[in-house]
Amino acid sequence: MIRIGIDLGGTKTAIIALDSAGNTLYQQQTATPKTYQATIENIALMIAQAEKQMNVQASVGVGIPGTVSSQTGLVKNANSTWINGKPLAQDLSHLLGREVCVANDANCFAVSEAVDGSGVGHQLVFGVIIGTGCGAGIALNGQAHVGFNGLGGEWGHNPLPWMTASEFQSTSCFCGHHDCIETFISGTGFVRDYNLHTSANLTKAEQIMALVAQGDAAATVALARYCDRLARALAHVVNLIDPDIIVLGGGMSNVDAIYTDISHRLTHYVLGQECYTKVVKNRFGSASGVRGAAWLWGK
Ligand SMILES: [Zn+2]
Repeated sequence: MIRIGIDLGGTKTAIIALDSAGNTLYQQQTATPKTYQATIENIALMIAQAEKQMNVQASVGVGIPGTVSSQTGLVKNANSTWINGKPLAQDLSHLLGREVCVANDANCFAVSEAVDGSGVGHQLVFGVIIGTGCGAGIALNGQAHVGFNGLGGEWGHNPLPWMTASEFQSTSCFCGHHDCIETFISGTGFVRDYNLHTSANLTKAEQIMALVAQGDAAATVALARYCDRLARALAHVVNLIDPDIIVLGGGMSNVDAIYTDISHRLTHYVLGQECYTKVVKNRFGSASGVRGAAWLWGK
């Protein structure tokens, strides 16, 4: 069975076709149109072209930068705002003449890494994409745990745990709350924090990491502060669902220091101060989203 995955991003729409072993048979990407009707027609066209070239009919999974309400079937919380309030799965199913599975892109990331990525062989995988923002997903037995409200894994909008006095009410988030985990552990949050403590005006996490490599003291302290906040946030995940493995994706997952630094910090924060959970880098990088969309129908 051929599985087609679509990763619907705000600027690009990617398609992949995988065979049952996970080999890539076809891949392509196009610009994402900025209206709803054009967006779904573009997806349908990309699938038609892929299937024509492969001469098969495939299953279709779609990852979106938002969630589908399990109660109404409508998309919500998408930063590609033109798909909000729309019955995307239903409309695509109608256009394609088959059932289509739609899920949050962070859930797709977790599924990809659970099925044949860094989390393979593990029953419960917590996947975190830390880039401009922070999205997370839960894969249980290789399947996305969407949740009753479609909110499974949206822990980035919980407050940062064990906040210090200086952290309390120090950030505001687009979601309307203060001190969300995302505002501290996203790449954006890392840069904001460094600038705050140094009066610098950097714009990229890579710039801070270059300073760390040169032995810069303020950058080194900022990285330690970042790792400690990430550990506090992940300790809550361990205390709540105790995943078998935690896989990181997004730009910040390329900071190798995280993987050597976080283990003892996690141990310090979890209940009982005993923690064997590994925090690892993703296998498929930016392709994890589109691969996970393909695996929404299972391997
Ligand atoms: Zn928030």
